[in-house]
Amino acid sequence: LYDDFYVKSLIRTVDDWPKPGISFRDITPIFTNPKGMRMVVDAYVHRYIDSDITHIACIDARGFLIASVLAYELRKPLVLIRKKGKLPGETISQKYDLEYGSAELEIQVDSVKPGDNVLLFDDLIATGGTLVAAISLLQSQGATVKETAAIIDLPDLGGSNRIQSLDIPVFALAAYE
Ligand code: 5GP
Repeated sequence: LYDDFYVKSLIRTVDDWPKPGISFRDITPIFTNPKGMRMVVDAYVHRYIDSDITHIACIDARGFLIASVLAYELRKPLVLIRKKGKLPGETISQKYDLEYGSAELEIQVDSVKPGDNVLLFDDLIATGGTLVAAISLLQSQGATVKETAAIIDLPDLGGSNRIQSLDIPVFALAAYE
């Protein structure tokens, strides 16, 4: 059975990392705890098993870890959205702003098509910049993003609102002020 307190006990806060003033939410204890890993994956399995999702897309690199198990369990295709320069073949890319500077995500052009209903997964939503860039890559290929899912939402940073304002629902297991 899903236990909110148990899952939250597996999210470790590391102060002043990767730089002073940032409190990093570290999810690695979920992966070293088989019961926690199963509980987290099962929460998404439960939510999406009877949905009309056709594909699961996920973001480099922590997004891959849960999404790949979910895709295996739901028997759905897994689409990788990667940092620029990692994917072979024909790709399209999308730049987005970070707090300082910018980053770029990439997808292979044949990975989704019109009519596909995609669940987009990442580990954490902060400003939403990463997920919004991923959404625009998927939409540019004609796919529909049915929902975005994450382990953690930081609602004060506005990302989940930003995604919802695109008419895309957001599902997160844990929120932190
Ligand atoms: P955003 O683009 O929403 O501002 O930032 C979200 C992205 O940054 C996600 O891909 C996530 O992996 C990473 N990220 C930012 N802050 C944290 C954090 O505190 N913990 C983890 N695990 N990832 C973070």
